Amino acid sequence: MLARALVLLVLAAPAAWAADTYEELRGRMIQEQIASGADGRLPVRDSRVLAAMRQVPRHLFVPAEVRHLAYTDQPLPIGEGQTISQPYIVALMTELAQLEPGEKALEIGTGSGYQAAVLAAITEEVYSIEILEPLARRAEQTLRDAGVTSVRIRAGDGYLGWPEAAPFDAILVTAAAPRVPQPLVDQLAMNGRLVLPLGELFQELIVLTRTPAGVQEERVIPVRFVPMVGQVQEPAP
Ligand code: SAH
Repeated sequence: MLARALVLLVLAAPAAWAADTYEELRGRMIQEQIASGADGRLPVRDSRVLAAMRQVPRHLFVPAEVRHLAYTDQPLPIGEGQTISQPYIVALMTELAQLEPGEKALEIGTGSGYQAAVLAAITEEVYSIEILEPLARRAEQTLRDAGVTSVRIRAGDGYLGWPEAAPFDAILVTAAAPRVPQPLVDQLAMNGRLVLPLGELFQELIVLTRTPAGVQEERVIPVRFVPMVGQVQEPAP
């Protein structure tokens, strides 16, 4: 009996150890990369965002070959020539989206599903569109494995948004758009925020807010994202 208990303890230890280690790595990621304003970056201090970053197991969203780098200060390859954004950028975009529990969010560029999981830690209403079908399917599986069941994913061109679920309180585009996709602006609720990297070689993170007086634009920081493809690359109609 005792022997069996000991064997079980020994077998269970590595998993428990790993869970603790990842939690500790997440704590350090938040402290050193996100909340502190290291290297002159804008610190992210929104407690809801920090709690979401602490909760989501980022290591589950990266391929096994780079799992040991999951909590480092960099984007990582996720296959199909795409990347999962740097933790700081995910936190910053989430803060800029000013999402509140109960609000509705749309993400364009599901990729690994990580940003969607962070949004889902704040609100139950998260929609995400990914243009590469294999990535969309894999993200669905990863989210399920991570215990996130509320995110709705669609494979397709996010340029057109998700009209049946509009309007959205926040829309995040996680691929660089050479111009602002007008359908996304049209799908913003009043006071809704559209956060997107705008540009091609040179890109800036932009926040567009729909106000009663019209759409207001705020430029935040220079960034570097993979390009948004599809209809956004055709000349504006
Ligand atoms: N948010 C992701 C990272 C996204 S990388 C994460 O948390 O892991 C950008 C993603 O945008 C890529 O997966 C790319 O395939 C996708 N993408 C590019 N153009 C798109 C479009 N027009 N519609 C939807 N997704 C697009």
